[in-house]
Amino acid sequence: MLIDHLNRQLLEREAQALKRQRRITESPCAPHQWVSRDGQPARELLAFCSNDYLGLANHPALIQALAEGAQQFGAGSGASHLINGHSRAHAELENDLAAWLTPCIPQAGALTFCTGYMANVALLTALGDASATIFADKLNHASLIDGARLAKAPLQRYPHRNLVMLARQLERCTTPIKLIVTDAVFSMDGDLAELPELLALAERFDAWLIVDDAHGFGVLGAQGRGSLSHFGLCSERLIYMGTLGKAAGLGGAFVAAHPTIIDWLVQSARTYIYTTATPPAVAHALRESLRLIGGAEGEQRRTHLQQLIHLLRTQLTTLIAANPALGWQLMDSSTAIQPLIVGDNAAALTLAAALDAQGLWVPAIRPPTVPAGTARLRITLSAAHSTDDVQRLVDGLARAALNLTGALA
Ligand SMILES: *Cc1c(COP(=O)(O)O)cnc(C)c1O
Repeated sequence: MLIDHLNRQLLEREAQALKRQRRITESPCAPHQWVSRDGQPARELLAFCSNDYLGLANHPALIQALAEGAQQFGAGSGASHLINGHSRAHAELENDLAAWLTPCIPQAGALTFCTGYMANVALLTALGDASATIFADKLNHASLIDGARLAKAPLQRYPHRNLVMLARQLERCTTPIKLIVTDAVFSMDGDLAELPELLALAERFDAWLIVDDAHGFGVLGAQGRGSLSHFGLCSERLIYMGTLGKAAGLGGAFVAAHPTIIDWLVQSARTYIYTTATPPAVAHALRESLRLIGGAEGEQRRTHLQQLIHLLRTQLTTLIAANPALGWQLMDSSTAIQPLIVGDNAAALTLAAALDAQGLWVPAIRPPTVPAGTARLRITLSAAHSTDDVQRLVDGLARAALNLTGALA
């Protein structure tokens, strides 16, 4: 019965071009990656899909720091943070992260989590009790949506970046605590939230602003300090969530906020309390990652990434203008996330397959991850890409466009 029920739904997804397939990567995360699928032999693909924005996931210094951390602290943490899993490496990492954010959040404390998903669920469930209301951008990441669903606080969603609607909702709100929550860089669109305006609204309505900086941490702002630094914001009302598996190249996440908020999370956040702490070697290596991000090498990598973003956008804008019949649209994004909207689910898959045939790996993102009718290729760039890599992608898209317009004609 259950199996039949599931099989029917799986077939339905297949018919709608919504069935998802995994591939197996046979080599480290890097632009040129060996990948296998369906028991076929591995192929080398040029990938534009990771969130490894600075190209640190396979950095020798981090591999070495991970090994050193394992020598010093062992392989596993053994328990949750509140039992005996909270190592010196975790404690020092939290000190580093708190210092990293204090220019933006005075006296910030920091707390590390195993994943960003868990950090977001922690924040919204621990702070969003019955005396609070949660205000969320409709395009927020799934982990924020799930956190809001699990919270006792009622949820009000506002249309993407519609601050007029948000202000109206805040004005009508009668709960004593108000939590505005937003992605800083929207994960499927690549655009930025208007953080200064959101903070101004938070001040005006005595609300708190929770910022999920999964895609800004390490990439935006002076020394890669993130979106708050990018906008030059500083306020005690800011609650910051950064992830450590994207630009930082390893894994995990953290919250930086007023020390009382941190203390409350330790006492009450179930995704913090009831889970085994990340291996301490990872925390140890993350400290090295912060040194890289904040130093000269991080700066070079960010500069190179900006050049690649500019190159890709210039070339794709020309390509799209030359092929209006395809209906492609480049999102208005200045970040390393450069989505190419195709619209139809099957069309997105066809385009991804056309690139795959040329040895290019760009994922097709379909509903429910994005709204219906906005299926897209989510192109992500990394400082590990070369300008030649980006040119190969543009050439591949041009070749696909030629074939598709030929088919349309
Ligand atoms: C990736 C991501 C998360 C989840 O972080 P993980 O550490 O991968 O669990 C949360 N929010 C946003 C916006 C993300 O892109």
